[in-house]
Amino acid sequence: REKAEKFTFQTEVNRMMKLIINSLYRNKEIFLRELISNASDAIDKIRLLALTNRKELESNPDLHIRIKADKENKVLHIMDSGIGMTHQDLINNLGTIAKSGTADFLAKMQDPSKAEGQDLNDMIGQFGVGFYSAFLVADRVVVTTKHNDDKQYIWESDANSFSITEDPRGNTLNRGSIISLYLKDEAQDFLEQDTVRELIRKYSQFINFPILMWSSKTVDEEVPIEEEASKPEKSEDNTEDADEDAKVEEDTEEDKPKTKKVSKTTWDWQLINDSKPIWTRKPADVTADEYTEFYKSLTKDSSEPLTQTHFVAEGEVTFKSLLYIPKVQPSESFNRYGTKSDNIKLYVRRVFITDEFNDMMPNYLNFIRGVVDSDDLPLNVSRETLQQHKLIKVIKKKLVRKVLDMIKKIDKEAYEKFWKEFSTNIKLGIMEDPSNRSRLAKLLRFQTSNGKGVTSLAEYVERMKSKQDHIYYIAGANRAEVEKSPFVERLLSKGYEVLYLVEAVDEYCISALPEFDGKKFQNVAKEGFKLNESAKSKEKFENLKNAFEPLVKWLNDVALKDQISKAQVSERLSNSPCALVAGVFGWTGNMERLAMSNAH
Ligand code: ADP
Ligand code: MG
Repeated sequence: REKAEKFTFQTEVNRMMKLIINSLYRNKEIFLRELISNASDAIDKIRLLALTNRKELESNPDLHIRIKADKENKVLHIMDSGIGMTHQDLINNLGTIAKSGTADFLAKMQDPSKAEGQDLNDMIGQFGVGFYSAFLVADRVVVTTKHNDDKQYIWESDANSFSITEDPRGNTLNRGSIISLYLKDEAQDFLEQDTVRELIRKYSQFINFPILMWSSKTVDEEVPIEEEASKPEKSEDNTEDADEDAKVEEDTEEDKPKTKKVSKTTWDWQLINDSKPIWTRKPADVTADEYTEFYKSLTKDSSEPLTQTHFVAEGEVTFKSLLYIPKVQPSESFNRYGTKSDNIKLYVRRVFITDEFNDMMPNYLNFIRGVVDSDDLPLNVSRETLQQHKLIKVIKKKLVRKVLDMIKKIDKEAYEKFWKEFSTNIKLGIMEDPSNRSRLAKLLRFQTSNGKGVTSLAEYVERMKSKQDHIYYIAGANRAEVEKSPFVERLLSKGYEVLYLVEAVDEYCISALPEFDGKKFQNVAKEGFKLNESAKSKEKFENLKNAFEPLVKWLNDVALKDQISKAQVSERLSNSPCALVAGVFGWTGNMERLAMSNAH
């Protein structure tokens, strides 16, 4: 290896490697998930390239991932016929950290308060430190790789530095990569077929390419006795096709036996996964467990999803889709806010195209995870052209409808959890998505004077008094504050129900909602509030108005002339003598409070 070029890792990579290697990281087995997922990504990439240039595939048309343990040398090989890496790719991809997420990862790892509650397992997966997880189990990693545009190279590292050499054997791979892990003493178990097979089933069952494992199988065979002399010699050669060894068992029958039993160990590539994508299967044939496992492999989330929807859309465009709601709102750094705004993977005819269109879902639904696969979109165009395709718009519209349907169908108990995590998203939706406003309005829940829990608007409307024609609400900082507000006292004493809007976004949200079920909203802290009451109480009110006219005149013209726009006798109070009310188009006290706190 005289021609080996030596490189040092980027400082950040060094820091991260130390963290990975020295951490008391229990779950070392995830290295295999990471390397298989890289292999799968690499095959996705060559397949995508081949869509616009068929020749790209010719160097190695079989798209699959193969895993082989070499017990003798204590090496585990992960091989793929993916895109491979050029010399420059090796330096860029396996020596530096190009992804911004990794900086966050480092910060979190070193600041335990931030990492609190975050499993290191999740973090390693979610921040994309994938490849380097090889060093959890290996003290030396060798990558042999061939890209269509370059020669075959060998990248090698002991986690301290790395080297790159042109492969002296020439181009043996045609195209693709082999990641060879020289396993640490304590990681020898990863050479066992059963262990590796289980790991593939556990973490990589939904990879869309065949995963083959070099496996042994013992079979009993009857062989004629005469042929004993010509029995094949135990092979010295440890290559794929000659890995056979045979054990002979004497046959003990009385008659001169013509045959005897021989148990033979044969080696072959065994298919471990079912690479038929789950979303292409009939929903009736998919178990709840399979949906959960697919979600976990898709998102690297360690908990199960809250719910999912799996459907085929037909009509203007046909597509299949499987969409999930996670249990918890992805934290800001995890969903890479700003750089990425949704998590929908787009496939065309089972070929992965992108997860970076970033507007397959509107902003307010960016917590939805899932896949979309359409046969109607063209395959042989660039991603940019595809993104502009008119059917994409149709797909997006249907996706939103399906998501809102899925949310509507969540049962009451689970809905509480949903609402706790995603209420702000739904309220932002009311403001941002007029075309789905009435669907979204049905999903809203608010605190209310009617009991301690939350209520839907439909439930409120059902409880409305017969002559009540508005939905009453008051907005404030918290329940205690609005409950004892003078604005609600008369309403409550008369038995009307008032919604308590105590989240910052609530008042904006309701302002964006013209009505619900034909009923307009009335902010009780605003002018224009009237109770629809009996003729008798109307008369009483008129009398009060007359009696207090001089006071009102004095307040308007003298006492508060410069402070208020007008004073009037109102119907809203019962015990309090007066209240400060906002004009119809003015800001309420609550809005002012929010604007002030935003400004600071
Ligand atoms: P990520 O997969 O999130 O990009 P990784 O650390 O797992 O991050 O991999 C780093 C990069 O190394 C990949 O983005 C890819 O460019 C390259 N890479 C890793 N494994 C392979 C492979 N088997 N074939 C081709 N490129 C690979
Ligand atoms: Mg990866």
